[in-house]
Amino acid sequence: MSESKDKIHKEDEQWRKELTAEQYEVCRQKGTERAFTGQYWDCHEQGVYRCACCGNELFSSDTKFDSGTGWPSFYAPVAEGNVETETDNSFFMRRTEALCSKCDAHLGHVFDDGPAPTHLRYCINSASLKLDKK
Ligand code: FE
Repeated sequence: MSESKDKIHKEDEQWRKELTAEQYEVCRQKGTERAFTGQYWDCHEQGVYRCACCGNELFSSDTKFDSGTGWPSFYAPVAEGNVETETDNSFFMRRTEALCSKCDAHLGHVFDDGPAPTHLRYCINSASLKLDKK
């Protein structure tokens, strides 16, 4: 993970106060919301999805697609560098974790079965997002 001066760092207790229980569980504890239960998996509104923790721009509705998984899915982040990835070996699987580059919020995972042009699928928890409508 890159360390820059722009990083937002808050104590665990502070995040717990600022976030809803679900946001805290997903973003700070690397939880996963149940499929088809989140706010955005079936959302077709235009806008920019920001980090629920820090407001960093993460994904544009232009790259959102229906993956059938029950989680909001995007084929690219809004800009390279806004979403960081890390290897995640938890649960006996080798996956790629997606994190907010500013506050290290856990967003979800990245898979390589997405549509063109990137063929990536950013499988993201609604709880980690906040849609800024156009
Ligand atoms: Fe963030």
